[in-house]
Amino acid sequence: MLGHQHKRVEKAGCRVCGKESEKPDAFQYITGFGYVCRDCGMQQVVCDSCGSKVRRMTVTVLRGKTLCLVCYRAEREKGDKRLMKELVAESIDDAVKISMNNTPEGYVLVGLRLKHSSKQTWTAEYEREDIYLSRCS
Ligand SMILES: [Zn+2]
Ligand SMILES: [Zn+2]
Repeated sequence: MLGHQHKRVEKAGCRVCGKESEKPDAFQYITGFGYVCRDCGMQQVVCDSCGSKVRRMTVTVLRGKTLCLVCYRAEREKGDKRLMKELVAESIDDAVKISMNNTPEGYVLVGLRLKHSSKQTWTAEYEREDIYLSRCS
């Protein structure tokens, strides 16, 4: 699971107070929100779903809502396990770009293929993030 958390950044800026750090390790990455410094990560925030007070570093922002771990899990498991989307692209490079840019929140792009009997219509396949992670770790 940890292997997926490594997002390479040169310099991380805190999304809350704007403080910058030379070492991104000093920052916590909040999914759906960005990096926060330790001080801001320790602040208490209120879960938009259940109203409980939790430290900012433990929350996840999903569809604009700040969720505690419990609510995030519940919310995440509501979605379909897999999603398919069709897109039109001239080349595989474009198809990759378009499908990456249109990844639904909480999903990971797992496949892309040209539709049968078509030269421009692609099918992008997405898998729910929690299932993807449990399969890969
Ligand atoms: Zn901060
Ligand atoms: Zn909650």
